[in-house]
Amino acid sequence: MSSIVLFGPPGAGKGTQAERITETTGLPQISTGDMLRAAVKAGTETGVLAKSYMESGQLVPDEVIIDLIKERITHPDAAHGVMFDGFPRTVPQAEALASITSVSHVIAIEVPDDRIVERICGRYSCGGCGSVYHDTFNPVPENGCDCGSWIEKRRADDNEDTVMSRLSAYHAQTSPLANWYQAKGIFHQIDGNRGIDDITQDILRALE
Ligand code: AMP
Repeated sequence: MSSIVLFGPPGAGKGTQAERITETTGLPQISTGDMLRAAVKAGTETGVLAKSYMESGQLVPDEVIIDLIKERITHPDAAHGVMFDGFPRTVPQAEALASITSVSHVIAIEVPDDRIVERICGRYSCGGCGSVYHDTFNPVPENGCDCGSWIEKRRADDNEDTVMSRLSAYHAQTSPLANWYQAKGIFHQIDGNRGIDDITQDILRALE
């Protein structure tokens, strides 16, 4: 089994691209951010622990994340590899991942910090189908989302204060992973400051 890692700062478009690549590769998307938000909503022990870290834009402790992944990877849909979105985010997480599955490609979606702030602060999604919109770049149609069950959803951590902490956590704790993966020869850099389709095309090319 061989897996793919989507790597990049918050708001780089990892989730959007993961959904598209899942359609092409058939690999299930595993987003630690989504798993943690579900845990917070369900009020589980993990959710209670993670909530304050997430609200302040800090990384949730490695051992919590590694336990989540170790459990998730045992599900039958993960048997032939998965696509990680937002994991690993630290070198210890990457080391733990290396001990449980092999990674064939790390796709780094690169977007400058000033673009990240404007992207994150205006984004929202459809509570019905999960489609992502943006106040300026991609507003929802006047009559609501095409899925027919429009409920506007904004993430609690998508605000200007938290985004700065999320970015500093990315630069301090996550970006050192780039060297770690570069040394393994599986690191592919993609310019994420372009249209969604162009980025998907480049990712699919890197995966060929
Ligand atoms: P995301 O949806 O990937 O932007 O993640 C939202 C928040 O969840 C992050 O700001 C962190 O607080 C937490 N989180 C998600 N994935 C991880 C991870 N791999 N390691 C540590 N914290 C994480």
